[in-house]
Amino acid sequence: MTTPPLKSEIKTDRSTPPNISCVVPAFNEGKHIASFLTDLHATLARLSDRYEIIVVNDGSSDNTEEMVATVSTNCAVRYLGLSRNFGKEAALSAGIDHAKGEVVILLDGDYQHPLELLPEMLNLWKSGYDMVYGVIADRRHESLLKRWGTGLFYNLMERDSVIDIPRNAGDFRLMDRKVVDALRQLPERNRFMKGLYAWVGYKSVALPFVPLERASGESSFRLRGLGKLALAGITAFTTLPLRIWSGIGALISIASILYALYVMLETLIFGNPTPGWATLTVGLMFFSGVQLFSIGILGEYLGRVYEEVKMRPLYLIAQDLDHGKTSYPDTL
Ligand code: UDP
Ligand code: MG
Repeated sequence: MTTPPLKSEIKTDRSTPPNISCVVPAFNEGKHIASFLTDLHATLARLSDRYEIIVVNDGSSDNTEEMVATVSTNCAVRYLGLSRNFGKEAALSAGIDHAKGEVVILLDGDYQHPLELLPEMLNLWKSGYDMVYGVIADRRHESLLKRWGTGLFYNLMERDSVIDIPRNAGDFRLMDRKVVDALRQLPERNRFMKGLYAWVGYKSVALPFVPLERASGESSFRLRGLGKLALAGITAFTTLPLRIWSGIGALISIASILYALYVMLETLIFGNPTPGWATLTVGLMFFSGVQLFSIGILGEYLGRVYEEVKMRPLYLIAQDLDHGKTSYPDTL
């Protein structure tokens, strides 16, 4: 993929304020995006005199674009309009690819990630951490099914994956340039960002936070979306599902050898009155099911391999408007 080479360098001295890039993915956030950007701008101005806000419009069908335009000049906004809805993970990648700052902050555009935490994040960075990630401290307001599903997902990942994906960590985070450059080197199309952040490593610290209410509209991630995301994560970071079926296959083979021995002995000792049609039918149905299920799991992995070999770009940019030029010089 052709993304412009970045001019920033890794900042070694952390005593002076860094150049900050703030990446905000936005999908149908028209109702509140303008006031959000104004608030974000005010917060960033207190932290550094060089910052940019990159808004990635992920193919919104509402007036997000117009609303961003109303505040973009005042708020040092760089506007990236994707050619369609590519999903949050791709939108974040687009923002990260274009961010020039020594420090990059990822933030949802719906007020759920508290702006008040940005100074604390920056202080942790100053004290030497390369990545500061927000961890949801309280999931009580979420439905039981969602909490249960999330728990199951993390259990599975913890059991097998070579990397440790921190529980309840989201995309709300601050990253040093080192981390951003490392992320940009990862070529995969399947951007399970939570896994990738953990994979690159670096000195990281968790910052607990309680997500605020969504400013307006509703979450784009319903249960089905979350299920898809979990599957993307599992297939990208563990091969446990494949191995489970090898184990079950081995057990079934051993059991069938024992059963064959038993049938032989039974025939030799008691003769053969040909019973067992029920055993046959049940066995046949059970094992056909097991086989189809395991082929399905193989297919999931194979499908992902196919996605990767196609090497399509992660996102396409239809519009790139840099309103923030004056406050954020290109000479970084
Ligand atoms: N988002 C996006 N593309 C999508 C869905 C969501 O860029 O296809 C953005 C959305 O505008 C928001 C962030 O990702 O800034 C989080 O989305 P949302 O609030 O819907 O999800 P949740 O907060 O429930 O994780
Ligand atoms: Mg949200």
